[in-house]
Amino acid sequence: MGETKYIFVTGGVASSLGKGIISSSIGKLLQARGYNVTIQKFDPYINIDPGTLNPYEHGECYVTVDGHEADLDLGHYERFLGIQTTKANNITTGRIYKSVIDKERRGDYLGKTIQVIPHITDEIKRNVKLLGNKYKFDFVITEIGGTVGDIESLPYLESIRQLKRELGKNALCVHLTYVPYLAAAGELKTKPTQHSVKELQSVGIQPDIIVLRTEHPLNEGLRKKVALFCNVDEKAVVQSLDAPTIYEVPLLMQEQELDSTILEKMGLPLGETPELGPWRTFLERRHAARSKAPVDIALVGKYDLQDAYKSIREALSQAGTYNDREVEVHFINSENLTDENVAEALKGMAGVMIGPGFGQRGIDGKFVAIKYTRTHDIPTFGICLGMQCIAIEFARNVLGYADANSREMNEKTPHNVIDIMEEQKAVTNMGGTMRLGAYECVLQKDSKAFEAYGKEHIQERHRHRYEFNNDYKARYEAAGMKCTGINPESDLVEIVEIPALKWFVGTQFHPEYTSTVLNPHPLFLSFVKAAIENEKASIN
Ligand code: GLN
Repeated sequence: MGETKYIFVTGGVASSLGKGIISSSIGKLLQARGYNVTIQKFDPYINIDPGTLNPYEHGECYVTVDGHEADLDLGHYERFLGIQTTKANNITTGRIYKSVIDKERRGDYLGKTIQVIPHITDEIKRNVKLLGNKYKFDFVITEIGGTVGDIESLPYLESIRQLKRELGKNALCVHLTYVPYLAAAGELKTKPTQHSVKELQSVGIQPDIIVLRTEHPLNEGLRKKVALFCNVDEKAVVQSLDAPTIYEVPLLMQEQELDSTILEKMGLPLGETPELGPWRTFLERRHAARSKAPVDIALVGKYDLQDAYKSIREALSQAGTYNDREVEVHFINSENLTDENVAEALKGMAGVMIGPGFGQRGIDGKFVAIKYTRTHDIPTFGICLGMQCIAIEFARNVLGYADANSREMNEKTPHNVIDIMEEQKAVTNMGGTMRLGAYECVLQKDSKAFEAYGKEHIQERHRHRYEFNNDYKARYEAAGMKCTGINPESDLVEIVEIPALKWFVGTQFHPEYTSTVLNPHPLFLSFVKAAIENEKASIN
């Protein structure tokens, strides 16, 4: 296509309006027109990456194939577009500053005074263009975290201003705002949008397209008003109405011709409007699935926050659609689970997920849940810490090591069935000690995992410090827990299963990161299928 086109997505009025979903939807629509698209997120916080952030602060930490701990919006980009993102797709202010300061220390600036403008803004601009320059994408969509008006966002906005000036038609800004509905007045209000656009204009950016997030449909008059006051074309005012599922948003944007407006503004040929066939088929299946009662799946974890298990929730929901059922996820706080209340808490659950996590808090409840599902043969899927808990519970209650534990929870445990491996022991720097990113795994043929994947060699993404201790492997296998997935290079155990049960699988890796709308993850598909079968069996 020639030169890379840059689309910036900014947000105003409030946070959490769904910039990630709008960016992903724009990406999806352009991709469906045959363009090669990537999306990146720039976050205005000082952390180098979200790896050290508590999930309560920032939701789930997403992991890219190259082992970068990234913002959860990258998960949306991958789920919508089916692309792989990398470290270059997620930049933080911390990384921008670190890179500038490293250059300063090396003497790269030849004695100059280092300033926000031009040094920080130049580094931001370099990073904006990095993917486009390196991989020649047709479109690079850059989502700017935070809200216009934040002090932290200013260097990013100044960079966008400069880039728009330098790139002319090859750059465009989409601004997402919120139109509140005042119930007492029965009216939708555009004033916050007008203010937010003024704020952008005050730093020299005229948005090209305005997307209005709203809970009620906007009438023509309101759109015209926004167009007039915010200085954009009427066609370039698009509403983003609350949808029953986020996967609906690309279609809602297409109906309002957001993609052709973008192409027009960037001087590109319009061509045919893509059908989005497989995407529509997915949505139809999803709607049809909703006509039946949902299948209840428990998610046992300690982070009582929707976004903390974002990818797991999405992977379950996708797997539900492909099994023609809606999955209803019931979050169960493991901190409150005891042997006395577990039966009540898990009552009616067709399957149970044991979530990933760090630290001691809430761990005992996970053991309680696992013991219950193991002894009642309820389909169970443990991920990362969830898999480690499956191994520990088995060691305690089947192998008879009452004090079995992970080194993470008890440094001195005599039965360290989950332990830190020799080569990791020397590393103490926070944020640098984990096994991160994609690793090979070889599956044992007669296993649930092999049945699900339908192949022997897989690659999955990791994010953990501790590992299954191979000293105990033979004892586990003799007692009925099989190690069915092994890393061929390090011999580390990546999957455990109890073949005597209906579906009892723990994975050291995080399969949820690679489940997409059009390519749902085989383990989630298989788990949800087993849960549905279990539900039927318990009703009969
Ligand atoms: N805390 C465990 C470890 O570091 C598991 C991490 C996780 O669940 N992501 O090994």
